[in-house]
Amino acid sequence: MSSFAALRRAHADARFKCIFLRPTLASQRLGCPVSPFSCRLNSSTSESHVSDAPTEETPIVASEKTVPSGDDTLFHKALTPSGRRDLADRIIQDGKELHKLNVELKNLQRFARSTELLVKGSPWKVAKHWFATPFKEDVTLDNGVIRVGSQTVPNIWLRDNCQCNSCMHQETRQRLLDTFSIPEDISIKTAAEFRTAIEVTWSDGHQSTYDKDLLREAGANSEKKAVIRQGQVDIHLWNASIAESKPQLNWEPESRPHEKRVDKFIQGVLQRIRRFGFCYVNRMKATPEATEKLLRRIAFIRETHYGGFYDFTADLASKDTAYTNIALGAHTDNTYFSDPAGLQAFHLLSHTDGKGGASLLVDGFKAAEELLHSDKEAYHILATVHVHGHASGNDGISIQPYKGFPVLEHDAETGALLRVRWNPSDRAAVELPLEEVGKWYAAARKFDAILKRKENEYWEQLQPGTLLIFDNWRVLHGRSAFTGKRRICGGYINRDDWISKYKMLHFGKEDVLKNLAAG
Ligand SMILES: [Zn+2]
Repeated sequence: MSSFAALRRAHADARFKCIFLRPTLASQRLGCPVSPFSCRLNSSTSESHVSDAPTEETPIVASEKTVPSGDDTLFHKALTPSGRRDLADRIIQDGKELHKLNVELKNLQRFARSTELLVKGSPWKVAKHWFATPFKEDVTLDNGVIRVGSQTVPNIWLRDNCQCNSCMHQETRQRLLDTFSIPEDISIKTAAEFRTAIEVTWSDGHQSTYDKDLLREAGANSEKKAVIRQGQVDIHLWNASIAESKPQLNWEPESRPHEKRVDKFIQGVLQRIRRFGFCYVNRMKATPEATEKLLRRIAFIRETHYGGFYDFTADLASKDTAYTNIALGAHTDNTYFSDPAGLQAFHLLSHTDGKGGASLLVDGFKAAEELLHSDKEAYHILATVHVHGHASGNDGISIQPYKGFPVLEHDAETGALLRVRWNPSDRAAVELPLEEVGKWYAAARKFDAILKRKENEYWEQLQPGTLLIFDNWRVLHGRSAFTGKRRICGGYINRDDWISKYKMLHFGKEDVLKNLAAG
């Protein structure tokens, strides 16, 4: 390759990097940091980076246009082969400098995220605050414009969210209207305000009525909206002392399975799981049938490559450590799925000819809070670096999620902590350049130490007749080694299914459906 071609190539490479950084760093701090020619990007504008670099087809001719002011020497260098080689070296050096800046930019972005969370405080406290805050913005009609507080409601949103029976199916709440048949310049022809609603006649002749509550909710902030959308509750964080006040309910006698009573009971179980991350159901029949029946009252049971509802005695039929009798450290299940099971249930049906096998639960949200307070940088590494998982024990199967996920996953809108993924056995790659991966290990070591603190470990010896159901997105589980024969049954339930059930039982269908358009 000629030195000139090398120069062009190095410039193209550096130019690409320059575009990547623009305007965040390059325009504010550097002007164009890479081109010896007259790149028009400068420190006072964020114009496109366009270079007047010569090509091999166009001879280099000195002119006003191509001479960068104040750097004649640099320009004349480009006229000789050795000078061009020097320049190429310099450009490569600048490229390396840009790489460093790029790393710095990523750190700044991470820091910005960290600051945002710090301003909001603990993510779960945000939810707690908004849980208790009513929708209170005024809804007004002023000169043909509808406002919620100081926000003007766009006409396209209003028309698209008309609740009438020709625009929306009244049973399924599915949209019947073709949104993009609405003229882009749709406007309010006439409107009238009533105590609880606003009636609108549109420029296309359609008439709509908007409940003020719907508009009020639509104008609320994302934290408030999340209360109903995500079935948020006032979360209670716990440690080993939860053993003294375990969340538990006694199962209704089978002889009185009145549907409404059962719903009330399931609501109580799910509300405790939402608040504490787990709940015991006592006085169950110690049979797989009774266990499966109760779980199916929450939602259908999830199938995986291990099966659906399971009933097993410790052996190695399924090639996974969960099916042996060795001790298992605290972990969450299904880190090898992009959508890990929401709930997991265990029912110890019998344990004969041996001892041990106590169950371990650890509140992952509590551990996350401890990490946030003790080492913010470690918290944000675990909240931003993606990790992969796998399940490859069964013949012909190696399940891996379609992308990596961080150990601590947050809601991008509200900043709330949504999910903890922690399974050292099933962990695969950590998505960092090899030379930087040590940072993740250092952060994970701190989280691991918190999870293993004696005061955070809640141990319980399960008994036949008591079903344990827990939130696999929050609570880590494990067990001690055991001897003898243990028969256990249980299953997984999807996150969306159990939260949906909880919302319908807790808020009622009307409130949940009203919330669809509002957010
Ligand atoms: Zn309509």
